[in-house]
Amino acid sequence: MIAILAVDDAMRFSVRAGLIVIVMMEMEFELMSGIGGTRWRIGNGTNISLLNENWLCDASSLSVQDTKVSLTATLIVADVIMPNEKNWNLPLLSSMFEHNSVQKIIKTPLYDSVTEDKHIWHKEKDGVYSVKSAYRLCVQEELDTSHLKMTGDWNLIWKLKVPPRVKNLVWRVCRQCIPTRTNLQNRGVNCTTVCALCNEYDEDSGHIFFDCLSSSNIWSMCTFNHVITAGLQHYAGVTELIFAVLQQLNVDEAALMACIIWSIWKQRNNQIWNNVTDAQSVVFSRAVTTLHDWCVVQVIRNDTREQQRIIEHKWKKPNNGRVKCNIDASFSRNLNRVGIGICIRDEYGIYVMAKYDQFSPICDVRIGEALGLLSALRWVHELNFGPVDFELDSKLVVDSFRSNKYNDSEFGEIIAHCRRLFSLLYNNSSVEFIRRQANKIVHSLSKAATYVASPQILVNIPNCIEHLLINEML
Ligand SMILES: [Zn+2]
Repeated sequence: MIAILAVDDAMRFSVRAGLIVIVMMEMEFELMSGIGGTRWRIGNGTNISLLNENWLCDASSLSVQDTKVSLTATLIVADVIMPNEKNWNLPLLSSMFEHNSVQKIIKTPLYDSVTEDKHIWHKEKDGVYSVKSAYRLCVQEELDTSHLKMTGDWNLIWKLKVPPRVKNLVWRVCRQCIPTRTNLQNRGVNCTTVCALCNEYDEDSGHIFFDCLSSSNIWSMCTFNHVITAGLQHYAGVTELIFAVLQQLNVDEAALMACIIWSIWKQRNNQIWNNVTDAQSVVFSRAVTTLHDWCVVQVIRNDTREQQRIIEHKWKKPNNGRVKCNIDASFSRNLNRVGIGICIRDEYGIYVMAKYDQFSPICDVRIGEALGLLSALRWVHELNFGPVDFELDSKLVVDSFRSNKYNDSEFGEIIAHCRRLFSLLYNNSSVEFIRRQANKIVHSLSKAATYVASPQILVNIPNCIEHLLINEML
């Protein structure tokens, strides 16, 4: 964050940041007392008060204002969960709370895999307290940094097809934090402000990149010089000018413009630090050559990546004597449901069986994918196939499954459940990541699974994957 601040702002920020560290150390106490960045993870709900505790999916809580009838303060979350099943007791909730609050409650998922109520750190995905996120929380809540934000479509810069060093320089020019002589003097550096290229005017970013005679001569070599000239008449600030011009240029012109800005800055530095005067034609051709060389490297890289992609993105049969089980999840906001597609194929790539499974309410993508793995692990072992290669396209789920890192969140509990089932029920089996393009069959199945009325086992090949299966067997 410091990097985007001007020097004065950075100084002020670091002094206040020191104070923030002190506040942050006290945050650990806040964590213990349940204030700040924490929320409840619902297990059986016996330790969580129904009112005034932040157990809803958005980490908020219910209060007496949300109720239809007067409720006793001793009610707990377990009181509104159906006995013997992990579902909300909808009729009871509707009799207790206003409609909007009931909707909020039923959007809060309950998971079989989570058995213990726990107060977890809401500001980290793994639910584990970290000083880093506590610091971020304090900065957000304690410091007003809105005055440091600059308006403008910054993506115009980040999407430029130019080397990163060029993007970085253009960004610094637009944030007005490059060390022009005027900027340096404003920050208390004892130096001249005269432009090193023309020795006439003050060197600020507007002058050095556009107004200086040397720079205007360079821009006049470009086919889009008229856009810059028109822009100079409309915009007083260099940032507004650059944004306005970038917006009007096509991709190649915008890239060349950025490279020329970079090359002019190099020309200025060469003059000041090396006492070398780059001719204007050299400045222009350096921009063109830099851009061209970078583009050539990108094309070679893309070709290699494309070859790699073709190899990686194809589904492969399992080795002899094994079956492969692909898994994917789809999310339907309209139906408030997660669909799970599971497909088993044998060593010849032949379809064996598939399954549609589903969960409600809709949840985080990573949780939906983890529920997919859990569903497959529960089902496939009943079929007694021997060694199974499970494959899914969520790298996060596969990496978490293999990692021993502590994770307090609902996701962590589901993954831990998967790990327990896997070691208990499977021998000589594996859980692997594959690219989405090689997991198309279960992607189609998972989409269909959001629409079916209830989970189904598919002994025959469903129509939606017939053509994909044939393609993958070839
Ligand atoms: Zn000048």
